[in-house]
Amino acid sequence: MPDLESFRSETRAWLEANCPAEMREPVRDEADIYWGGRNATFKNDAQKAWFEACLEKGYTVPEWPTDYGGAGLSPAEGKVLKQEMARIKARPPLSSFGIWMLGPALLHFGTEAQKQRFLNEIARGEIRWCQGYSEPGSGSDLVSLQTFGEDKGDHWVVNGSKIWTSYADQADWIFCLVRTDKADKYRGITFMLFDMASEGVSTKPILLISGSSPFCETFFDDVQVPKDYGDGVTGYVGEINRGWDVAKYLLGHEREMISGMGGGGGMGSLGKAVMPSLGEDAMGRLDDPLLRAQLAELDVEALAFKAMAERFMDELKAKKNHPATPNMMKYAGTELNKRRHELIMASGGSEALEWDSEASNGGAKSRDWLRTKANSIEGGTSEVMLNVISKRILELPDA
Ligand SMILES: Cc1cc2nc3c(=O)[nH]c(=O)nc-3n(C[C@H](O)[C@H](O)[C@H](O)COP(=O)(O)OP(=O)(O)OC[C@H]3O[C@@H](n4cnc5c(N)ncnc54)[C@H](O)[C@@H]3O)c2cc1C
Repeated sequence: MPDLESFRSETRAWLEANCPAEMREPVRDEADIYWGGRNATFKNDAQKAWFEACLEKGYTVPEWPTDYGGAGLSPAEGKVLKQEMARIKARPPLSSFGIWMLGPALLHFGTEAQKQRFLNEIARGEIRWCQGYSEPGSGSDLVSLQTFGEDKGDHWVVNGSKIWTSYADQADWIFCLVRTDKADKYRGITFMLFDMASEGVSTKPILLISGSSPFCETFFDDVQVPKDYGDGVTGYVGEINRGWDVAKYLLGHEREMISGMGGGGGMGSLGKAVMPSLGEDAMGRLDDPLLRAQLAELDVEALAFKAMAERFMDELKAKKNHPATPNMMKYAGTELNKRRHELIMASGGSEALEWDSEASNGGAKSRDWLRTKANSIEGGTSEVMLNVISKRILELPDA
């Protein structure tokens, strides 16, 4: 414990010296998030300085081993760093599906050569990944996917299409589920890695209700995927035809990542956040008794959620977690976040419905609210999470 306390004071001092004031402000638009990748640009000097300081220290992926670009922090040290960053509301220096999803899968299933190449590229922000799982007709029932890779000896020829591929038009590479054996549903999928600039890959953006278009349809027309990129870097993760194991493992990490929104990001108390819209009564309380009660209830639930998430993360790091834990976290976190944004809208009145005005920061409230509608769909729907919880945690019989 004394070691951890000295780590905390060193970390606090390091953050004070290296995290620019602009990087302690809430994220306002997409350009405030640094995703890295071949075509990445920094929004401003502060974003660049913060990323470079973290990169040098291994803090883009603090708990990954130093060999793979991390700082090699223990889970306890990683938690202290997270707490200290949250204390000063520091933005993540690098956001990446590589960090949240592919990296953990490579650490578990990847070959040494794959780890050396891809984990270091991810940690340095040199490669941006997208996730090729869902297909038209294969979302919740993902294992029914039809995109097919024909075996040509040293490579596959892949044909088919994916849907809802987040940021596919901006990604450098894709981690992609491809059927390689039509005879076996579960043991006929390979988890492939390939360049989005490969001949035969194309994308088409999908416009969403929130007005933005971060998703794509992704098409594969005779795309050649090598089985080996050289130096032992295979073009697939795990074993050929056993990609379903990798896919499920990765989904657990995706669900944990998505569940994080239950904590409300850096928003803190919802009651305090909506104070400017609702005003206060003579006793300094929110000036709407009905909403006040609902806001207080949500603040209490958010605290309970944070405590639950912290306990689950500790259990996970100690490898003592129930395998269905991420489903519980995902369900609780995303449903809570949807309710949070309903209350923000209810507290904001008609002004919250503004879509374009400068005063409303380009309709940020209503766009954020509409975006939360997808929370309980992405990474597996709430209904599917409840099915898993009832079967694997409550051990109820199948319907
Ligand atoms: C914001 C967002 C980002 C996404 N990003 C990606 C991405 O980057 N890559 C990617 O591959 N995919 C991505 N997806 C797709 C996502 O994984 C799927 O939308 C999700 O798995 C649900 O699949 P579906 O849309 O095909 O719905 P369906 O599976 O068709 O479900 C339709 C409805 O039926 C219900 N339902 C289905 N099966 C059952 C059941 N057994 N029991 C009870 N109810 C059921 C569902 O809950 C839902 O309400 C994204 C989705 C969203 C919304």
